[in-house]
Amino acid sequence: MAEATLPTEIRLDIVTPDRLAAHEAVTGVTLPGKNGYLGILPGHAPLLTELVPGALEYTASGAQHTMVVNWGFAEVLPDRVIVLAQTAERAEDIDVERAEKAKERAEERLKRFTDPEVDMERAQEALRRAIARLETAKRIPE
Ligand code: ATP
Repeated sequence: MAEATLPTEIRLDIVTPDRLAAHEAVTGVTLPGKNGYLGILPGHAPLLTELVPGALEYTASGAQHTMVVNWGFAEVLPDRVIVLAQTAERAEDIDVERAEKAKERAEERLKRFTDPEVDMERAQEALRRAIARLETAKRIPE
């Protein structure tokens, strides 16, 4: 009986509503899953997971790449990972000042919890996006 060969690479696609943020052959990828970070190597068992705001890292041609994604889903197959995310930016493209301002705005809104004009859930989500961006930007090697 012929032995099934395991894939040695994963085709990674990261898709947002406005663009294809990544289309790469990778040897490993780490995803910010709802229940924690998930490390995927070629040959991984199929799964579908919800993503939360956080860093997504992958290795392509021996180099490590870091992106930040905000909410979405990932479909994992032995030789393929498809990420559908609301937004995705490369760590190097994160505008830190903008994320700091977004964080301050969200924190100000969250302080006004008695104000019926403030949508707390929206402010909480904005805060999580901003924190994910700031944390991911810190991962860029000096
Ligand atoms: P802001 O209030 O600053 O717009 P936000 O969290 O509401 O932040 P999103 O709705 O998540 O922004 O993203 C809108 C668009 O702007 C997306 O294309 C996203 O990639 C981009 N974007 C948002 N914040 C940043 C950032 N700090 N650096 C780079 N791109 C960003």
